[in-house]
Amino acid sequence: MHEYSIAEGLVLTIKALKDKEGLTKVVEALIYVGSLAQVDREVLLETLRILGPEYGLEGVNYVIKEEESIFQCNYCGYVWPWSEVRMNVIKELCGDIEDCDNPIHLIPDLVNVFVKCPKCSSQDFKILTGYDVKLISIKGERDERL
Ligand SMILES: [Zn+2]
Repeated sequence: MHEYSIAEGLVLTIKALKDKEGLTKVVEALIYVGSLAQVDREVLLETLRILGPEYGLEGVNYVIKEEESIFQCNYCGYVWPWSEVRMNVIKELCGDIEDCDNPIHLIPDLVNVFVKCPKCSSQDFKILTGYDVKLISIKGERDERL
């Protein structure tokens, strides 16, 4: 299961940070999930809650936010967010089906087929951000007596 390995990676990173910073408890972890990342946020959250206690992370409030994907054209240099092309892509993929929500989310490999530069129509572009899962920050408590 995809979300399981991502959750495990996050939990291990949070645990390493906790140890490094000498925290007694991690209160909150902020996680960004790219809008093109092939990740179910509900499943990820659930898996984090199950895995956390196995690594000594009890009662962590996991805050999961979506990070919008940003593209840059290799040809003309134009930079654009996913929201700028989203409607076009969905229309191309789904026609007039109204609740066809972000099929590329499910099939990220299609991004290079269906997304093109809004300025010059080149399909030679890179994804700058928003294709993976990132741990942004954690909040914790220290034992002040130490
Ligand atoms: Zn371009």
